[in-house]
Amino acid sequence: MTEHNDEHFISAAGLVKIFRVADLEVVALQGLDLEASRGEMLALVGPSGSGKSTLLNALGGLDRPSAGRLSVDGQNLLKLTQQELTHYRRTKVGFVWQQTARNLLPYLSARANIELLMKLSGLGPRETKQWVDELLDAVGMTEYANQKPTQLSGGQQQRIAIACALANKPTILLGDEPTGEVDWPTAQLILGLLRDLRERYGLTIVMVTHDPRVAEQTDRVIAIRDGQTSTETVRVEQDGSIAVGAEASNNGDGVAQLHAEEMIVLDSAGRLQIPGDQRALARIGRRAKVELVDGGILIRPSEDDAIEITEQTSDNGADTAYRSLYSNEPPPDQEQSVKQKKQSRWRFLRLKRNS
Ligand code: ADP
Ligand code: MG
Repeated sequence: MTEHNDEHFISAAGLVKIFRVADLEVVALQGLDLEASRGEMLALVGPSGSGKSTLLNALGGLDRPSAGRLSVDGQNLLKLTQQELTHYRRTKVGFVWQQTARNLLPYLSARANIELLMKLSGLGPRETKQWVDELLDAVGMTEYANQKPTQLSGGQQQRIAIACALANKPTILLGDEPTGEVDWPTAQLILGLLRDLRERYGLTIVMVTHDPRVAEQTDRVIAIRDGQTSTETVRVEQDGSIAVGAEASNNGDGVAQLHAEEMIVLDSAGRLQIPGDQRALARIGRRAKVELVDGGILIRPSEDDAIEITEQTSDNGADTAYRSLYSNEPPPDQEQSVKQKKQSRWRFLRLKRNS
């Protein structure tokens, strides 16, 4: 493995996916960019229909993007033949789905479920025996190996599902809401397990989640809006540098006290997407003025099409959700500066477009 490969373990640029249904075209990904290093654990968040599963399927070689560039572990997935893509999926990718029924066959024991996948991936009998024992131990399920899925709790089923996902010794583990059907204490156990397995087997993990508490425990949270990466939340060290890998997601045991910072993502052409609510709060309509100022770039509404703030709503139930989906910041306290006060007042204004 080259270092280049490790740094750009996942590299997506301008990824487009168009679904054609009858005469209709659905653009599920519209120029998505994403980079991840080997060993990172990423959470994909975003509204329903924003393209999270489409991206996951592309990363896993289950579906082929319509255009753009996508490489995983040194393989250019858009250039592979169908046969090569199948080989990639069988040898490099592990999947964990939300519904345990999709992960496990109900009439086979836990052990037989894992063994079956090992056989399918071409492992010999001796290697299979050794690997299944190791995986059962790694997910803490050795004593339940002979139980059928229905005899296991939801959390135990997901542990077996994770062992199944690792049966083919993948380098990338993909999860579509892997903790979506278990309670929070169980979800925490599963997240801890995923972190352990990542260390042990050098996995890169990408998972979709709707739960901010789950997202918080990953290295980096990638927010997808309208088929594009819109923001990233990273853990920041005291000195301002960005933490990666295990150090960033160590907050489960309270070792690393890093704060999360949400950042807007620019694509390779320098475009950035400003979330609609922030745009509205800044009264930005279709055009904006961009000014270079000390320390950054200022984007202001252009007077002729600035959005009008029409009505003020009550000030209660203050939250900062509009600014950050998954911010760790405490809610604003009483001692706000004048500027912050002005900003926080904006949050409770109902907005209407000028037209
Ligand atoms: P998410 O997982 O973020 O909810 P998806 O990736 O499933 O979003 O879907 C993104 C968009 O693509 C949605 O508009 C969805 O309806 C559409 N889409 C997804 N899969 C298909 C498909 N197989 N055929 C047609 N449209 C699809
Ligand atoms: Mg989905």
